[in-house]
Amino acid sequence: MKAKVGDFVLPGDFLAVSEEFIPAEGAYDDNGNIKSLVVGTVERDDKNKRISVVSPTKSLPILKKDSHIIGQIMEVRGQRALVKIKSLKENDRGLQASFVGGIHVSQAQKGYLAKLTDAFHIGDIIEAKITKVVGLDNIDLKTSQKDLGVVKAMCTRCRHFMEKTSKNEVTCPNCEKREKRKLSINYEG
Ligand SMILES: [Zn+2]
Repeated sequence: MKAKVGDFVLPGDFLAVSEEFIPAEGAYDDNGNIKSLVVGTVERDDKNKRISVVSPTKSLPILKKDSHIIGQIMEVRGQRALVKIKSLKENDRGLQASFVGGIHVSQAQKGYLAKLTDAFHIGDIIEAKITKVVGLDNIDLKTSQKDLGVVKAMCTRCRHFMEKTSKNEVTCPNCEKREKRKLSINYEG
């Protein structure tokens, strides 16, 4: 059942199939099914075949390409770090649904990175930029800019937040462990 104009939808709700419409603001393509990314009402541009979901208040955050997000590292496995997206940088009210993004090892920093654990560890707070919204739990992120990367690092031994001690190194004030990170120039520690 295709969503009608004015229908109230939730993140993940089916809107239309991608043969009929292309996803515009607040919508995404999930393997041929266009779904809602946000809480809001359905709008359709039949002439241009665009379907979108508009949030009830304009200031509600919507994830889109090039937006900066604040998130927390949930897992670092192989070539990909998983990130729980907490909020948009320009709007710290938090998000209406839970979004999960990923940073591929090639997108973590400029130049070669031997292993992702030299850039991130579980619990780190990061600022990243959205490169592609594939789905609610599949948002591609990158941190390969000076102003992106870890803004607060968590000690892998004792879980204290750490202090920046060089361009790519942090030290724990509690247990003195030193670890590598891909730090943002805006590191807060
Ligand atoms: Zn420590």
